[in-house]
Amino acid sequence: TRWLTAEGFTRVTTPAILTADMLARMTITEDHPLKEQVFWLDAKHCLRPMLAPNLYDVMGSRHRMGHKPVRIFEIGSCFRKESQGARHMNEFTMLNLVELDGVADGAQMARLTELAKGAMAAVGIEDYTLERETSEVYLETLDIVAGELELASGAYGPHPLDGNWGIFDPWVGIGLGLERLAMHKGGYQTIKRAGKSLAYL
Ligand code: ATP
Ligand code: MG
Repeated sequence: TRWLTAEGFTRVTTPAILTADMLARMTITEDHPLKEQVFWLDAKHCLRPMLAPNLYDVMGSRHRMGHKPVRIFEIGSCFRKESQGARHMNEFTMLNLVELDGVADGAQMARLTELAKGAMAAVGIEDYTLERETSEVYLETLDIVAGELELASGAYGPHPLDGNWGIFDPWVGIGLGLERLAMHKGGYQTIKRAGKSLAYL
């Protein structure tokens, strides 16, 4: 967070409960793989599987208030029904940073790369690679990978989803799994060693 603050990012805290409408605006509708992973509380509310919907909302409204660029980040729990295993938990902690209207259209991948490198330097991880991939929700992503372990995914826009949030300017964003970072740094065999645990506390 010291690095993010120095880079001009402001921390925000948003609700962990999402409405079905907010989720649908991420196009996580019936045929999307994440759909099966959502913890529904009732017909219209779920636990957030990602921070992106709320950050889209906050980023768009700050921009309309005249902030340029908008730089915000959130650290918070996300929830996904996972088949478990050594790298997935049902509740994990995401750090998601987003920047809107910070670079010209065309420079997003370069900016993403710069932020990804900055984040890795800030947490003291050197043995990583940056991998471009195509994704379901975003057209192109930049993953931060250590060995076989995905530490983070970055994405950028303008993107077809942006219109749902009234956003039309270039943006970049990276979501880092904090337990994955701790797992990698600590050399743990299982992510649970880095997970939230009352026993550990
Ligand atoms: P994976 O392919 O490893 O399941 P993902 O691509 O579905 O991950 P993203 O949606 O890109 O995950 O989420 C951003 C980051 O959050 C991931 O890079 C990872 O570090 C972390 N993450 C995602 N799902 C989990 C989980 N179930 N448990 C722990 N960390 C997770
Ligand atoms: Mg990913």
